[in-house]
Amino acid sequence: MSFCSDIKTELTDIKVSRCCVQALTYGLLLFGRAFGAQKISMQSENEAVTKLYSALIKKNYDVDVKITVGESKNTTYKAEIADEIDRLKILASVDFGMVEGKISHEFFNRACCEAAFVRGAFLACGQMSDPAKSYRVDFPVKNEALAQELRDILARHSVAANISTRGKGFVVYIKRSEMIINLLALIGASARSLELIETTIIKEVNNKTNRVFNCDGANINKTIEASMKQRKAIEYLIKREMLSSLPEELIAAARLRLKYPEASLKELCKNSPETITVSGLNHRLKKIIEIYEEIK
Ligand SMILES: [Zn+2]
Repeated sequence: MSFCSDIKTELTDIKVSRCCVQALTYGLLLFGRAFGAQKISMQSENEAVTKLYSALIKKNYDVDVKITVGESKNTTYKAEIADEIDRLKILASVDFGMVEGKISHEFFNRACCEAAFVRGAFLACGQMSDPAKSYRVDFPVKNEALAQELRDILARHSVAANISTRGKGFVVYIKRSEMIINLLALIGASARSLELIETTIIKEVNNKTNRVFNCDGANINKTIEASMKQRKAIEYLIKREMLSSLPEELIAAARLRLKYPEASLKELCKNSPETITVSGLNHRLKKIIEIYEEIK
C-alpha cells in the first residue's frame, strides 16, 4: 500500500458526526470520477474508500450502488449508480441546478461539515506523495469552477493551494509542507499532521544542531537539549497514537513545541495562539514527559 492509500484507509475509519454525513457524501460524489445525469461513479485502488462511497450513498439516498473489481496493473475498485432514476434522485437532492462544477453550500452547517466535505474530496480524488520523498498533494478535477471553489474552501481553513491545468482538466495542488500539515489536520489526519510537523522540523533542527556542535564542541545549548527531550516524548506518543487522546491543553503544548523546536519557553509562550505563562507551559511539557516515562 502506498503512503497515500494508507492515509485514506485511516480517514475512512473516522467516526462521522451526524451533521457532517451529507457534506462528506457530497465531497465523495462531486470529486468522484463522474457526477452527472449520464454517470455517477468513483474509482479507487483503495477498497475502503469505495466501500465508504457506496455505504454513504446507499444510506443517504436509498439507491443501489454497483461495485466491480478490475485487475489491470493494480487492482481497482469501481462503484457506480447504474440506474438512471437513481442518479436523478441523487442529483435532485443537491441544490446543484445540474450545472456541473458549482458547489452547493447547503450541507455546510458548521466548520466541521466543510472539513468533512474536503475529506470526501481528498478520498475521492486526492493524491499525496510520501513526505519523506517530496511535499505534494493534488486534487485533479475536471472543470475550472470546481477547482476554484475547492481552492477557496481550502483557503478559508488556512490551506493555501494553487491551480494548474493538466491535460483537459485542472489540478488544485499544495506544495508547501506547512500547508500540507494544515490540510491533514483539517481532514482529520491529526496524527499524520503532527508526524509531518516533526519530520519537517527535525530536518531543520538536525542541520542547526550540527552547526552548534561544530562551533562549540559538545556544549549543546540548554534550550535545544530540553526541547529534544520533550520532542522525544511527543514523538513516542505520536507513534503509539496516544497523543491525540491526551487533554487538549497538552496536545496544544506538543504542537507548539514541534512547531518551534528551538524556541525557549518564553518564545514558545509568545508564539502560542492562546495566552499562557512560562510556568504554565513548562508544567504542561513536563506532564507530557511524565506520561511518556510512565508508559515507556
Ligand atoms: Zn458537521
